[in-house]
Parts: sequence; structure tokens; C-alpha cells
Amino acid sequence: MEKKLNRPEWVPENANNEFATNVMEGIESVHDGFASTKRFIPNIKKRQEYTIDELYEGVVSGDRVRIAKAITLIESNAKRHFYKAQELIQKLLPHSGGSLRIGISGVPGAGKSTLIEALGMMLCEMGLKVAVLAVDPSSTITKGSVLGDKTRMEDLSRHENAFIRPSPSAGMLGGVARKSRETIIACEAAGYDVILIETVGVGQNEVTVRSMVDFFLLVLITGAGDDLQGMKKGVMEICDAIAVNKADGDNLLRAKMARADFDNMLHYLRPATEGWISKAYTCSAFEKTGIKELWDVIKDFEKKTKETNVFQKRRENQNLEWIFTMINDQLQEQFYSNQMIKHAIPDIEKKVKSEEITPTLAATKLLEIYDLSR
Ligand code: GDP
Repeated sequence: MEKKLNRPEWVPENANNEFATNVMEGIESVHDGFASTKRFIPNIKKRQEYTIDELYEGVVSGDRVRIAKAITLIESNAKRHFYKAQELIQKLLPHSGGSLRIGISGVPGAGKSTLIEALGMMLCEMGLKVAVLAVDPSSTITKGSVLGDKTRMEDLSRHENAFIRPSPSAGMLGGVARKSRETIIACEAAGYDVILIETVGVGQNEVTVRSMVDFFLLVLITGAGDDLQGMKKGVMEICDAIAVNKADGDNLLRAKMARADFDNMLHYLRPATEGWISKAYTCSAFEKTGIKELWDVIKDFEKKTKETNVFQKRRENQNLEWIFTMINDQLQEQFYSNQMIKHAIPDIEKKVKSEEITPTLAATKLLEIYDLSR
């Protein structure tokens, strides 16, 4: 039997199905009038974009696909995504705050990923849900020194209780930090009990991560010497514990000695958290020794700081600080992306170099230009 086809009313009645103007039955076009694939593809993408409600429902019900989509939205640099993400986070906020946020820092090679895998696996096996995030503003330059090599957390990434998310694509530290803070909220709303935030030890990163976590762990290895493996002594001042990793094999004794040295150094520093004495411990992420003990220390920290309200007070202060960090970031962003400023900077720089004007005057001039441009 001949298949009945749609026939526009202006097609002659006696035309057969081969008549060129017959409208063939087939895939329904989402675009009226244009058959070009170029126009067709963006339309399909648009239809697949989740609404805020769909993302919200997905996140709070723990649907990993939609959690990942929500984080992609949070990490997007597009302006229209920014407002959508803010709306989503606002909805998720009442469901957040329930996790223990732990920052983990150390130089590349200290064993952070191996330690996170060992600790994360142990927690998952205990029935806890663990999210691993990274803060690495340099990740596209260094091709992802943090969580770049996913094979490093192979077991954990396969565990149903774990969720691993590499660093948002590189940019200013402020931008990466904002995204990470908001990702924490999404993970908490999704029911993750422990959030491990990994960062490379290069100075400013640690301070930023400290400002978003409850507990800050520094991972060190032996042979540190006085220079603290290239890290400033200041990093010791912001940590709640030091884990001397690779305390195994021939290195065990040296690790124990290093632990005593670090303990001694910590003793003379002001504690990072009121009412808590930061100490150094040894562990082997490889042999999975000292991991349980490290977790006990973290739990003890949580218990004590919650009893004294220091835990809650820190979170409150972190939230307040966040407002002003956001203002600084956004003002900076607006200033440097201003066309008149972009245009004026090279000339002003030249004048400062040739000592025609002072840096202070240069800054004042740029700010005046910015004021006038708005
Ligand atoms: P990250 O750069 O700090 O994340 O360090 P990785 O976790 O990638 O570890 C760097 C290297 O140290 C890898 O070759 C690991 O296998 C090794 N490593 C990590 N933890 C231990 C440990 O506890 N003992 C020993 N012997 N090696 C370790």
C-alpha cells in the first residue's frame, strides 16, 4: 500500500508521492523553515539543557549525572550561566552545610592523590559519601597537576559512594575559588558527608582553600629541610595537622624523625584553629597505615570545635569573608575587562617605566579613566 504523506494544500491533487513538493514524513524538525544542519544542531543542544528545577531535583536526589551537570553550570564562564547557576545555588543552599570539609595540600609528589584514594576508600567502605574536588588555577598551564591523571584514583573513582571532580578550567584564582565554593554547596545538597579539596602547594592556593574548609591537612615528605619543600612557613600556621607521608620501607625511620621535627616547629606556632593543637603524624598512603589514625584526629577536631562553637563560628566568618572576596573579584574583573582601561594601560605603563609619572599617579589616572567610562 502506498504510504500516505503530508500534502500541503497547494500541491496539485493528482500529484504522486514523487512530486517534489510533497512533505516527506520523517524526523520532526525543531526548526521551522531551515533544513541546514548548522542551524539544527544548536537547537537540539538547547532542548537538552536542564532547567533549574530539573537540576535541583537531580542534585537533592543524588543523581550523579545531574550533579555533574549542575557543577558544569557552576563552572561555566558564560554570563547567562552565571545567573542560572546563582539561582540554582540559592535553591540548594538550605540543603547544604552538612558535610565535613577537608583541605589537603602539599607539593606535587608528596602523595596527596594516593592519600586521598586511601582515605576516601576507607570512608566509602564505612558507608560515607565522599566528594573529591580540586582547586588548581594553573591547571591548563601545567596540564593539570592536580587530579589531572585520573588513573591515580582508580578505585575511588569507581566506588559508588565517591564523586571526583577535577579543578575547574584554569583562570584567576578568585574565579576558580568561587566555583569550588559553590561546588561544595552542590555536593553537600547531594548528600556527600565528606568533601576533600585538594590543592597544590604554591602559596596563595593554600590560603584560598583554608578559607573554604573546616580542617586543613598538610601532606609532607621527608627531606623537607628548613625550606619546607619550597613552601612558606606560613602554610604551617594555617594547618590543623601535618601528615608525613611515605612512612614505609627504608623511609620509616626518617619519616618518624621528620614528624618529630615538624611537631616541634608546630609547637612554636600560633594554632590555626582556636582551642586545637596542630600536630604532625606519620602515614603511608601506599601501605594504608596511619590513615585510620588520621581520620580519628579529624573526627576529634570536629567534635571538639563543634563543642566550643569554633566550627560554626569559622563557617560563619568564611561566609562573610566570601562576600567581600566576591566584591573584590568582580570589581577587578569589571575594571580589567573595561575597553578604555585595556586601551589606556600600555601607555600608562610606558610612562611609569620612563619615570614620567609615579605608580601611584598611574593608578589614580587609570581609576579616573574607569570612572569616566561608566
Ligand atoms: P601528589 O602529586 O601529591 O598527588 O602525589 P601522588 O599521590 O601522585 O604520589 C606521587 C608518587 O609517590 C607516586 O609515585 C606514588 O606512588 C608515590 N607515593 C604516594 N604515597 C606513597 C607512600 O605512602 N609511600 C611510598 N613509598 N610512595 C608513595
